[in-house]
Amino acid sequence: MPPTLVATGCAWHGVMPHILGGNGVGRHVSVATLTDCAYPGEAIGEATAVAQMTRTREQDKESAPAQRSATRRATIVAMANQKGGVAKTTSVASLGAAFAELGKKVLLVDLDAQACLTFSLGVDPDDVEMSINEVLLGRGVSAKKAVVACADGVDLIPSVIELAGAEAQLLPRPGREYVLRSVLEPLRADYDVVLLDCAPSLGVLTLNALTASQGLIIPMPCEMLSHRGVGQLLDTVTDVQAILNPELTVFGILPTMFDGRSNHAQAVLADVGERYGLPVLSPPIPKTVRFAEAPAVGRSILTTSRRSKGAQAYRDVAKSLLIRF
Ligand code: ADP
Ligand code: MG
Repeated sequence: MPPTLVATGCAWHGVMPHILGGNGVGRHVSVATLTDCAYPGEAIGEATAVAQMTRTREQDKESAPAQRSATRRATIVAMANQKGGVAKTTSVASLGAAFAELGKKVLLVDLDAQACLTFSLGVDPDDVEMSINEVLLGRGVSAKKAVVACADGVDLIPSVIELAGAEAQLLPRPGREYVLRSVLEPLRADYDVVLLDCAPSLGVLTLNALTASQGLIIPMPCEMLSHRGVGQLLDTVTDVQAILNPELTVFGILPTMFDGRSNHAQAVLADVGERYGLPVLSPPIPKTVRFAEAPAVGRSILTTSRRSKGAQAYRDVAKSLLIRF
């Protein structure tokens, strides 16, 4: 009979305000602190619920090699940067189409209430019957029911404007950071790649994405000041790795909107990897007006401008990432 936990003063409560954008109290709590709190016994509040999930995840990892050899298990990758307009959505749509061209089975998930990915793949959010919002809040609603097939050879779980209220509704739920991970788990057998298009924030939905993912790609325009905020994102990643998802790996910074004629863009590109000690994905995605045209017809640039440098750059980045899938 395993001992029952009384989570006396578990540091968890000190950690959460920081992760949720609060004052940073308790940010140095170790995984051991949390694991010490986690005995499978009666559920006693949030700390125990989350710590139990950590334990379940470790058990999952032990059995993972056998599962991987026998069945497909998608690699889940978050495209995140709390800045808006850095090409998160463009990169999810374009890399998704590139992986599909390479014969991979691809699922894209729109985690932004603005639903730009949903629009840009030709799905009208006003016509969506079931979205990621219902899947996250629905308690027991199967994510499979929300999947729609799109023209670019990828599947999509669409978003709707109502997702804007999801953060507030998730906040009081125990284990709120694990909701996306658990709803996507049954889908991992059906796909090779799942790409998560994050909203421009470090709120609960982005924490859900980082907790659900094996990989993180950080799109960053090659412009002055565009790296501001990356440090804060990486602090959050460190917290997530320590507490919520030790499996999370930063696959790299994806340089976007790169103007090869500009010395400044070259300098930013040369500096960014060293500055953060992270891999820089290659090649950089060139700046071209073709990207603005693609969403209007509900297809990615890989279809609307097949031979453009932008389409080819995303194909090359996708090929460089194949080793991860
Ligand atoms: P985010 O999802 O990070 O907010 P988007 O993918 O919506 O960013 O891109 C913001 C804007 O930049 C869009 O209008 C998009 O068409 C444009 N854009 C994206 N990538 C490029 C690029 N390589 N060159 C030129 N414009 C781009
Ligand atoms: Mg976006």
